[in-house]
Amino acid sequence: MDKKITIAIDGFSSSGKSRMAKKLAKAIGYAYIDTGAMYRAVTLYCLNNNLIDGEVVNVPELEKQLPSIHISFGVNADTGASETYLNGECVELEIREMRVSGKVSYVAAIPAVRRALVAQQQRMGAEKGIVMDGRDIGTVVFPDAEMKVYVDASAETRARRRFDELRAKGNTEVTYEEVLRNVQERDHIDQTRAESPLRKADDALVLDNSHMSLAEQDEWLLAAFRRIIAR
Ligand code: C5P
Repeated sequence: MDKKITIAIDGFSSSGKSRMAKKLAKAIGYAYIDTGAMYRAVTLYCLNNNLIDGEVVNVPELEKQLPSIHISFGVNADTGASETYLNGECVELEIREMRVSGKVSYVAAIPAVRRALVAQQQRMGAEKGIVMDGRDIGTVVFPDAEMKVYVDASAETRARRRFDELRAKGNTEVTYEEVLRNVQERDHIDQTRAESPLRKADDALVLDNSHMSLAEQDEWLLAAFRRIIAR
């Protein structure tokens, strides 16, 4: 199998697309890039540097500091998992916290942030052989991707999954209602923002995984990849 393609996986938050994308990348020997982690890392930077007040981001100051925000990925030698680094420091756990989830959609709506991260994503995927997941990968980052998937599931299903995940990680403070509110709020902001809103690319395959097991989703994705690569 030497023909390398670009695989774009877009969808709502907590749709399970990252898990699926990661699994597919591993199965076919492709690199995996979690673009949500990049927006989360910039958000963490803003929180750590007092650039967010409520819903308001200090955009002029953030724009000034953008060139000195460096995001990269590294592989954890013990677990083999990809981890996100912000200016050389591993922030993989911090960027998943609710305080980041609650602000990331405001930061991701800023055009200068999107321009910088999209350019970096395009550089990372220039050689193909990549699975990238996010909101605008099939529409903006790689509109020519050979394989595009749009993952859909109800807000309740996604909130339940996210809630179970947080609980499994030991977070006992957050309630299901809070998680559902965060999911709905992010859906709304992600779909209605002026800059690269979340939408299905016309040529994307749709996967509604509300009632699918993890194994069924993985099988579906791998079968779609095999069909496309055989063309
Ligand atoms: O995928 P994840 O839920 O970690 O993404 C966090 C947030 O980053 C999303 O809610 C969205 O606001 C933003 N995002 C984006 N474009 C991407 C990936 C994520 O705007 N390509």
